[in-house]
Amino acid sequence: MIVHSWVVSNVERAVNQDCIFCKIIAGEIPSAKIYDHGGIYAFLDIAPVNKGHALVVPKKHYATLFDVPPDLGRELTTALQVVGRAVMTATGAAGLNVGMNNFEAAGQLVHHAHFHLIPRHAGDGLTLWTQHAYESVEEMQKLTQAIRSAIG
Ligand code: AMP
Ligand code: ZN
Repeated sequence: MIVHSWVVSNVERAVNQDCIFCKIIAGEIPSAKIYDHGGIYAFLDIAPVNKGHALVVPKKHYATLFDVPPDLGRELTTALQVVGRAVMTATGAAGLNVGMNNFEAAGQLVHHAHFHLIPRHAGDGLTLWTQHAYESVEEMQKLTQAIRSAIG
């Protein structure tokens, strides 16, 4: 019984039946596949910010960055570099934004961890975010300390 629930919970973690990206990786939904190596898969975003906008995803279902096992880091970094370089070459882009939305408050719509690779061209008019100022140096120092404490 214990073994059975262990297997079930691990299978559920590996493939989420309701996840559109799990279905794409399993080949149940078509995708414009550009990379398929080891534990990583990449395909074109269906609604690109700029043409060539790609998504790099772990094949196993992890909801956010915080669920991705750190030992996948090497494969993930390699995929981001290989796919990112190829996207730039194929689109003639002069730059590349790498982005990731985690949780709905940050704009995550698909709850399967994924990195956006967005090719950029000089003067393409895309603005990613607006920036603000801290009210004081003290406010910034206080936040620095709070984040350091959270790291432990
Ligand atoms: P996010 O807001 O970070 O969760 O981004 C999800 C992305 O997935 C969006 O940019 C969508 O355009 C993209 N997307 C959703 N469904 C598909 C699909 N079937 N094929 C390719 N890209 C998709
Ligand atoms: Zn998934």
